[in-house]
Amino acid sequence: MSIAANLNHLRERIETAASRAGRDPASVRLVAVSKTKPAEALEEAARAGQRLFGENYVQEFTTKAREVREPVEWHFIGALQSNKVRQIAGLVTMIHSVDRLSLAQEIERQWAKLDATCDILIQVNVAGETTKSGTTAEELLTLVREVALLPHLRVRGLMTMPPFFDDPEGARPYFRELKQLAGVVAAAGIAGVSMDELSMGMSGDFESAIEEGATLVRIGTSLFGEREYPR
Ligand SMILES: *Cc1c(COP(=O)(O)O)cnc(C)c1O
Repeated sequence: MSIAANLNHLRERIETAASRAGRDPASVRLVAVSKTKPAEALEEAARAGQRLFGENYVQEFTTKAREVREPVEWHFIGALQSNKVRQIAGLVTMIHSVDRLSLAQEIERQWAKLDATCDILIQVNVAGETTKSGTTAEELLTLVREVALLPHLRVRGLMTMPPFFDDPEGARPYFRELKQLAGVVAAAGIAGVSMDELSMGMSGDFESAIEEGATLVRIGTSLFGEREYPR
């Protein structure tokens, strides 16, 4: 199937899942995860109406950002080293993977130089897996309070990568937990912090994520096909 056909099919599935949950389909945005895919594939998706792309690797992303000719918007969704933040400053409208204060402080420094504000999500390791990045549920509120004090960052919500399951239902409890944590943060009423965005759900499980409240679903394989090399 072509990328355009995949995209249409995904849009239908997103709409159906949203409707099933009694949600406005427009409240769910598709982040096209384009890691390892060439600029041509992104341009094909862009010509089919996809505007928002998510990238994971700084070097690969900055190269692609120069190559892609269509007007697109970028989110950074991968693990991010502080010493590489400078390279993506101003190129992305949102960073989904902020999981520690030192990283937030570097984003603050780089966006301040641009006199701009960066929207960020706090990545939460809901399952507490030792191999995954993300702050813990216990440390979340403390981190949000600290990040909220940085004037060139705007905390917009939470992101999670649940453990891998073959069964698309397997991740649902973690999606539900992330939504609940967002409620806890929202209830704390921290100045400048909103919890409007929940980035959760990938190719295998985005429908249950939408049913549990996702506003950003990050989908790669179902749109672009299998990746050429494993990451
Ligand atoms: C690769 C990746 C995705 C997309 O995964 P698919 O299963 O290919 O849809 C989503 N989120 C993050 C953080 C990723 O690294």
